[in-house]
Amino acid sequence: MNNLSKLFTNLLTVTLFVGLMFNDQLRSESEPYTPTTMITGANRGIGLEFTKQYLQKGWKVIATCRTPDRADELNNLKKNYPDHLSIMQLDVTDHNRIDELALQLSGIPVDVLLNNAGISGGSSNQIFGTMDYKVYEDVLAVNTIGPLKMAEAFYPHVKGSQLKKIITVSSSEGSIETAFKRGGGRLFFYRSSKTALNMLMVNLALQLKSRGIAVGMVNPGATDTDFMTGLPFPMRKPEVAVADMIRNIENITVENTAAYINYNGKPVPW
Ligand code: NDP
Repeated sequence: MNNLSKLFTNLLTVTLFVGLMFNDQLRSESEPYTPTTMITGANRGIGLEFTKQYLQKGWKVIATCRTPDRADELNNLKKNYPDHLSIMQLDVTDHNRIDELALQLSGIPVDVLLNNAGISGGSSNQIFGTMDYKVYEDVLAVNTIGPLKMAEAFYPHVKGSQLKKIITVSSSEGSIETAFKRGGGRLFFYRSSKTALNMLMVNLALQLKSRGIAVGMVNPGATDTDFMTGLPFPMRKPEVAVADMIRNIENITVENTAAYINYNGKPVPW
């Protein structure tokens, strides 16, 4: 090969290389952003329905649950959404595991951190006179402390995303004003765990507002899941409750951060 054809070959290589780089840049600029949600307790009930609906919307979902091996519905969903659904083991009371997962996922944006996992503690364990205080500790660990620890560990992931939202599924049972209407003497652990959760999230909302992160709480209303088994009143289907909550989550921004939104879009009184 003479010098002229060598020069020509080199020029062609450089041109192709620059062209490819430019093409890559153009592609990443023109491709629409795919938001990601990370959901706790995603294997059944409301968490599973959130997973389905966010996947249907084209989002990426990091679905976490205590025992992925037994999460049949999630594992089936994975067959239809191999690129958009990842299933991760997570017990929200295991703080070491939360930190480990946060590290494992470092650099991955989480647009909506969705604290959904929750337990009631069972109504018979929280009757005045025979309270089971170990159960109270468990309820607080899952419903109240878990969401705070998740927010703390995944703050960098939320901060690094576009939508920047920390959302928790609360309950109107945590509303003190509503308790005066509904009456007392029941679900002491569950109700107070959600009231304390609300204060934690308001506190966090006020702190994170200037950093562009929105924090909010959503209430599904009485929804037909294992959580409500045997209760004798009308319940909404998870499909409907979750569609309502997704719409309400879309309306939570830094402007109305600390919002506590009922399924019908109205504020829940504190
Ligand atoms: P379910 O009982 O159907 O599901 C609860 C979910 O939480 C399960 O995936 C369960 O996982 C998970 N979970 C429990 N403990 C842990 C833990 N330590 N770590 C990780 N995950 C855990 O309840 P719902 O789907 O109905 O409730 C979801 C949320 O909605 C809760 O926060 C609840 O308080 C709230 N809510 C529900 C209402 C309703 O009417 N259903 C009304 C108001 C609020 P596993 O399968 O491993 O037990």
